[in-house]
Amino acid sequence: MTNRCGIKTVEPYTPIQYVMGSAEFCGLDFRVDERVLIPRPETELLVASAARLALRGRTRADTLNILDLCTGSGNIAISLAAGPLTKGKSNCKIIASDISADALKVAARNAIANGVYNRIEFVKSDLFSDIKDQFDIIVSNPPYIAENEFLTLQEEVLREPRIALYGGVDGLDFYRRIIDALPGYLKRGGYVITEIGYQQKNAVSDIIRKSGAFEVSEIVKDRNGIDRIIIAQWIN
Ligand code: GLN
Repeated sequence: MTNRCGIKTVEPYTPIQYVMGSAEFCGLDFRVDERVLIPRPETELLVASAARLALRGRTRADTLNILDLCTGSGNIAISLAAGPLTKGKSNCKIIASDISADALKVAARNAIANGVYNRIEFVKSDLFSDIKDQFDIIVSNPPYIAENEFLTLQEEVLREPRIALYGGVDGLDFYRRIIDALPGYLKRGGYVITEIGYQQKNAVSDIIRKSGAFEVSEIVKDRNGIDRIIIAQWIN
């Protein structure tokens, strides 16, 4: 936006990260704009959990397939690719997908800027619609804001893409769709790691248990003591 004097101005309530055009995540710099969600510090716990599971009990010879659904700015996939996970492990394959072509452009630029573009394949996909492989670990920070919660969101958050926030009437649509489709895309014994909204622990745990194929293996709290990350493993 430019004012009458030709000076660039910003809309009120524009998040500072959009004004600056960047956000820090896992110690890396990510370019962000209105096309993508701004990475949040609590999502770093998801990256740490995925890296921990990926490294557990694996040898250098193992291949490791990871899928990041709803990648947005690419923060999760890129941090995994740039982190200890792939150090000395050339056969770690990461696919990052999003339904938004705009978000994928941002993510690809971020991968280039962080030197990991050759380690991630970007796929435009509505969750699993265009995904073909099977994975050891599937990670996702899906949209999880419920309809009535929009009334309580700060103005700054409402500047972020609705498609990246809105999780259906009760906020749980993406968890249902992901868990439903998982058996076709996860390797036996594989893990799914998702971020959840505050107060969603029981509902998402129920969805996982009712599937009959998975069990909740761990729930990670954020630094405010809020249940934030659910890790489930394929047991059947
Ligand atoms: N993966 C991105 C993040 O964690 C985007 C998530 C989303 O768009 N819902 O910030």
